[in-house]
Amino acid sequence: MILDGRQTAAQIREEIAAEVSQLKQQGLRPPHLAVVIVGHNPASETYVANKEKACRQVGFDVTRIALEASVTEKELLDVVGRLNDDDSIDGFIVQLPLPEHISEEKVTRAIDYRKDVDGLHPYNVGLTALGQRSVVSATPKGIRELLARYRIPTEGKNVVIIGRSNIVGKPMAMLLMQKPYLQLPKMSASALGNATVTLCHSKTRDLKKICLGADIIIVAAGQPSLLTADMVSDGAVVIDVGINRVEDATQARGYRLVGDVDFSNVAPKCSYITPVPGGVGPMTIASLLQNTLQVYKDRLAVKS
Ligand code: NAD
Repeated sequence: MILDGRQTAAQIREEIAAEVSQLKQQGLRPPHLAVVIVGHNPASETYVANKEKACRQVGFDVTRIALEASVTEKELLDVVGRLNDDDSIDGFIVQLPLPEHISEEKVTRAIDYRKDVDGLHPYNVGLTALGQRSVVSATPKGIRELLARYRIPTEGKNVVIIGRSNIVGKPMAMLLMQKPYLQLPKMSASALGNATVTLCHSKTRDLKKICLGADIIIVAAGQPSLLTADMVSDGAVVIDVGINRVEDATQARGYRLVGDVDFSNVAPKCSYITPVPGGVGPMTIASLLQNTLQVYKDRLAVKS
């Protein structure tokens, strides 16, 4: 069965839009997200445009701050400082990757953790690791939400994650291994956890053997067709995070997007699988909206 991220994300957007219109009826201003983009990386421009569109759909205010790739680190840090101090901005993101002359670590640390809707500030990452309430990195949060909404339990399951990035693999492992910090309602996203997690990476030996022991496989490696049918047990759940451009002369733009899973051969073996596109990607954006609403409510002390 397909885990339809597009449809689930649309449902989440509807829920958020309803909440925003209620807030407005109470006389409150809508949440306001700022997006900082540096340079003209085509993939980043597409991601940012999608995020802005999603914000507008749910009634958020959104402000784009576009800087040339030649911007200095100091100038970018000044922009971050101004956004931290700006009371009309609830949360903001600095779209990654940044040009090489700018330290992503410095910029991420400079963001006020209370406005860090990407959940990448060390303070939020630390809270996530401790299993405490935090702003959770958008992609793993979206995957957890997708599992919850399809009522796929993780307790006691063997979960294999391929990829150890700070934005996907590591926080995903933390979320799924820990004791859920909220127990209600039964299958809410925050109730997922209690899994036995194996985190694999480029130096892992015998990936196939490890994957064959998995109930749930989450692949975030950026390698087309890394996960093949012989690595997947019957009935496994497969979540494909990868977004890879492969040349395709039949497409007007000259390429198509594929994930990290050999979808056509793996899908028949799975109980559930996410497609690419239309799986994890839309859920990531939905999580960004949820995070923005969360920090907005925290700032304005709005009751849920
Ligand atoms: P990354 O690109 O920073 O690192 C890749 C990881 O995969 C590394 O930890 C590496 O050790 C591991 N890896 C690479 N080849 C491997 C192999 N053959 N066997 C085992 N492990 C291997 O990771 P990332 O930033 O999480 O990105 C991974 C993919 O996910 C990319 O395609 C990216 O575009 C995509 N992504 C998608 C979303 C989304 O919303 N759908 C969000 C973030 C990233």
